[in-house]
Amino acid sequence: LQMGMIIRQFPCLKDNYGFLVRDEASGAVAAVDTPDALAIERALAEQGWRLTHILNTHWHPDHAGGNLALKERWGCRIIGPAGEAARIPGIDEEVSEGARVQLGDSSARVIDTPGHTLGHIVFHFAGDACAFVGDTIFAMGCGRLFEGTPAQMWASLSKIAALPPETRLYCAHEYTQANARFALSVDGGNAALRRRAAAVKAMRSRGEPTVPTTLMEELESNPFLRAPGIARALGLGGLADFEAFAEIRKRKDAF
Ligand code: ZN
Ligand code: FE
Repeated sequence: LQMGMIIRQFPCLKDNYGFLVRDEASGAVAAVDTPDALAIERALAEQGWRLTHILNTHWHPDHAGGNLALKERWGCRIIGPAGEAARIPGIDEEVSEGARVQLGDSSARVIDTPGHTLGHIVFHFAGDACAFVGDTIFAMGCGRLFEGTPAQMWASLSKIAALPPETRLYCAHEYTQANARFALSVDGGNAALRRRAAAVKAMRSRGEPTVPTTLMEELESNPFLRAPGIARALGLGGLADFEAFAEIRKRKDAF
């Protein structure tokens, strides 16, 4: 019997999202990243849940800053990226590409997605058709390249793009409206993008989250996944796909 999992999402800090994932069969509960220990404690109390795990996508303080406070309170097991384990406070288990992470009866596969940081990982819960993508991909956007190269980030985004299109993507930030403005500046002829930008504007004016998104929506309207075609349309011929991505990323950085 597959009972699946429940996901509780809540705003943290300025524009982060916190996520609690509860495996229904076992009652195991994971915080995916720890932007704000107090906000996570509040969400746990509201649900009446006990924290058993922390899953970290990368070392940035708005993703791992609450680790130690939560571990002290709950004794939870911290699972994080092997590639940057030294920078993940309280880490118990280091994981990388292909590792299985078990949360009760639910399980995730780890995908290495270097680019935003060099050790960044994504947790893909195939049985629940969702992935926690940290700061690798955002709705109509992608993470800034603080540590990795455009070639690395393009390879990472390509792995996400190869997941089943119905996969829900839980991004770590509400950057969608600003991302839409940039996307329209390079891909304004894309009718799906124009429709989505209008829908996002309406959702935000009602105070609604635009996360999670789905891979299908991103394939249609994310300018970074669509970089090779957009570059051709902009008259930039002869670029390798990762070079096209680099060009779009550079334009976003300057936007
Ligand atoms: Zn980050
Ligand atoms: Fe972040």
